[in-house]
This record gives sequence, structure tokens and C-alpha cells, in this order.
Amino acid sequence: MSFNEIIGQIEVKKLLKKSLKKGRIASAYLFSGPEGVGKTTTSLNFAKAMNCKLYQFDSCSKDISGVKCPSCKKIETFSHPDVKIVFPVPKKIREENKRNELLREGKIHKYKKTEIISIDDIRDIEKSLLMKPFEAKRRVVIIIDADAMKHEAQNAFLKILEEPPQDTTIILTSSHAEGLFSTIVSRCQKITFKRLSKTEMKNFLSEKGELTDEEIELICLLSGGSIKNAMEFLDEEGRGERQLLKTITTKKDYDKLKEIYDKEGLEKIINFLLPFFRDIQIARTGEKLINADMKDYIHSVHTKYSREELNETVELLEKSLINISRNISPELISNVIFDRIKETN
Ligand SMILES: [Zn+2]
Repeated sequence: MSFNEIIGQIEVKKLLKKSLKKGRIASAYLFSGPEGVGKTTTSLNFAKAMNCKLYQFDSCSKDISGVKCPSCKKIETFSHPDVKIVFPVPKKIREENKRNELLREGKIHKYKKTEIISIDDIRDIEKSLLMKPFEAKRRVVIIIDADAMKHEAQNAFLKILEEPPQDTTIILTSSHAEGLFSTIVSRCQKITFKRLSKTEMKNFLSEKGELTDEEIELICLLSGGSIKNAMEFLDEEGRGERQLLKTITTKKDYDKLKEIYDKEGLEKIINFLLPFFRDIQIARTGEKLINADMKDYIHSVHTKYSREELNETVELLEKSLINISRNISPELISNVIFDRIKETN
């Protein structure tokens, strides 16, 4: 994956390339922005670019047939000794050192809502930083979903930041950076990732083929500028979901919710509904929308909802996500959502 292969984020890529060219790489970065817009991908690519042996200010392409330098190859397969990647996982996975398996399966964010990054993780990082890099030009530590560090871990991490080790860059990624100590944030160079614009999303979806213009429009709308969200609509199963979400959001027909009884299905639907309702909430207050491209549509539907109704719906959906992670029966959750939303209508 070279910078060219990252979708959107033109400003971010420009900035990172510039610091590579000038040889001015910060000792700590905070990549913040919404979920599923490329923060993790960019952090890995930046780590590759800092160490690439073939390209000066970029990295080898991810294309399987392409020629790759040994450094990029190792980072891509998560086997580089000087590139450490930490993210929230259950204690057992941490203790058995099995994060790499999740990395290879692409399940980096699997536990972001339920697990933490523990103080032991930070101590491990601290220990590894005491040694000299094995082979890298620049050692990289990537802490994904860094807000999953609780106070104790953040305190320990702050100490690392206060005395940044030489030839090392630490990258934090977070879609909830408000959960990080301000003392941590202020020691990082902050890089803000944006939701993809409608044009960027449209280009991405058009390349996927087999989608009608109407389907592309709908996915653009429901994905809220997140590649991760859009991808979930692209499979066969996603086809039915697209229709379902259209009915729910445009016709306020919540009966359909009752038909979803499995945990994953429900979680997925809520993850789409939540940003949608948050956007309408913003539209009602007259503030600038996060996703300006969706302005016309959001404004056309926002009058259908009262302020109380919106606040309650957002709160309810947020709570439902927590309840899903606590293994409360999806059937019960969808019934509660259904009843409550019905009530407010
Ligand atoms: Zn390379």
C-alpha cells in the first residue's frame, strides 16, 4: 500500500509526504477522525514509508504482483521487529501474544468497544523502547483506538511521551480523541482525518462495479463517508440491508427492526442508524453538518423528527450498542428500540 492507494484524505497524505521529504518526522502523532476513514491504513503506510528501502518518500505498493522491499514486506505481514502495533484485546489474547493473528485476519477493531489497552501493554512498549531498534531506520509504535487506554495506562503512556526515545515515532489513532488526556494530545502532532466526500465515495463505489446509480447514492448516504461502512453494504447480504435502512430512515418504518434477531445484524444496523440520526440532530441545531455533501437530504428529513425524539433515539441507539456488547439478547434489544421509537412517534 503506497499513499496513492489510500482513498481520499488528500490533506493528510500531503502533510505526511511533506514531513518525509523534509526529514522532519515527529516523535508522536495523533491520527483522529471518524471510524472507517483510513486512520489505521495510513498509520501502517506511514510506518512503511519511514523505512522503505525502495522509495524515498513513499512505500512499496500492496499489489501482490509488485516488487517489495524486505522492510515493507515485513510490516505488511506484521512481522517487523521494530514496528509494534497495539490495540484493545481481551486479556487472554494479550497474555498469549496473539494480537498478530487478529492483525492478519484484519480484525484490529474487533474489541474496540469492549476491551481496553492495559497498563501492561504500555509497560511492554516501554520495555521494548529501552532497546535499540533491530533493523529499522525508524522504529514505530502504533497504538490503535488509543482512547481504550484507561487512566492508569494513559498516565504510564504520558511518561513515555515526556521523554521520547530516539529514532522512534509513536502513532496514536482514535475516533474518540476526547477520551485522551489533554497532556497526551498536546504532545502529539495532531492529524485530522475527514469523512470521505461524496465524490470520493462515489469514485470508490463506481470502481467496485455492479452497482446501479441509485444504489451508489444510497450507500453514499448511509455510509456517512466511512469506507468501512460502505464495504459492509457491498456484499449480497448488504443488498437487503440497504433496502431496510432506506425504509427505516425515509419512511420511519421501524417494524422492520423486529425482524433482526441476530447480534451481528443488529449491531450493524445500529452502526448505520446512529451517524444518520446524529447528523439530523446537528441539522436541527442549525450547526454545520459533519458531512456537508449530505446536506440536502438531511435537511429534507430532519423536520420529520422533533428534538426530543432525536435526542432520545440517539441515546437509545448508543445504549443498545453497549447492551449488545454485554451479550444482552438481540431480540430484547430490538424490541426495546422498536417500542421506544414507536412511542415517540
Ligand atoms: Zn518498501
